[in-house]
Amino acid sequence: MPDDPLLDIRGLKVAFHTPGGSVTAVDDVSLSLRPGQALGLVGESGSGKSVTALSVLRLLPTPPAEIQSGSITFAGESLLDASPRRMREIRGGEIAMIFQDPMTSLNPVMTVGEQVAEAVRLHRKVNRREAWARAVAALQEMGLRDAAARAKDYPHQFSGGMRQRVMIAMAVACDPRLLIADEPTTALDVTVQAEILGLLRRLREERGLSILLITHDLGVVAEFCDEVAVMYAGQIVERAPARVLFESPKHPYTRGLLASTPDLEAAPGESFRPIPGSPPQPEERSAGCPFHPRCPDAMTLCAEENPESLPEGASVVRCHLHSDPQKFKKGEGEGQSME
Ligand code: SF4
Repeated sequence: MPDDPLLDIRGLKVAFHTPGGSVTAVDDVSLSLRPGQALGLVGESGSGKSVTALSVLRLLPTPPAEIQSGSITFAGESLLDASPRRMREIRGGEIAMIFQDPMTSLNPVMTVGEQVAEAVRLHRKVNRREAWARAVAALQEMGLRDAAARAKDYPHQFSGGMRQRVMIAMAVACDPRLLIADEPTTALDVTVQAEILGLLRRLREERGLSILLITHDLGVVAEFCDEVAVMYAGQIVERAPARVLFESPKHPYTRGLLASTPDLEAAPGESFRPIPGSPPQPEERSAGCPFHPRCPDAMTLCAEENPESLPEGASVVRCHLHSDPQKFKKGEGEGQSME
């Protein structure tokens, strides 16, 4: 069914066991992605975005990581129950991932053509010649001029933007259904960033590729995604269609993120307002809403009880301001500022 989710994550909880004890990096995360959809997973560094993505591909080292509860289903198949062999088939074959810095994923002593061809041979039963031909075609499709000749070059002979194109060629060479892109444009300058986003958009339209875009940059999300999930301290605090989230953000953290995004049209000195303070480290998280020490709307209740995720219109919000009003009647929580 076209509306059935391709990727469905429910109640995911991931902890890391450290010498100082167990710390929760991802806590009760639920999100889903339909075929052909682009979902932006947004948050500051350390919010749990990448740990969520790596959990999908079962790429977290266990130990120290441990998926403690929840489920991850891809096209109806439970990824947490898949055998190591099945996960190797899925990685690269059905779900591919690209990272911020292609140099960490590309082998510096192999030509880029060999690397794309190797990715093809891992997942498709083709001989070397056919794999090479597919690699050159993929590089050409990703916008590499003179691809047949350039396929024989090494990663260091390419610019950052071109290396990202090579990574994307490797990722989509086997026609995956889902691409997880972890900060794919963060290291690139603005013009190249726009080119890479344009390339991802084209792949989405032409191939019906679903994209989970992980980023700290709301500008990238606004341009690219049709749905957004905002993460803070390991939890999804707001989820909504992109248009709804940008027009009427509900969670105080989302509002803070939007206000802290530089606005080129604003008057000098008023272009953006950073959120005061910094996110808590996983081992520093205390009871209550994890955003309460930084939240301008915090109430007494916020330091005591972590709110649940509740639907509100087209959004899902985790904030007491959007909870059942019965929960904090006048005089008990509402209006009692933390300051
Ligand atoms: Fe702010 Fe309270 Fe909402 Fe947390 S629950 S975001 S502290 S108002």
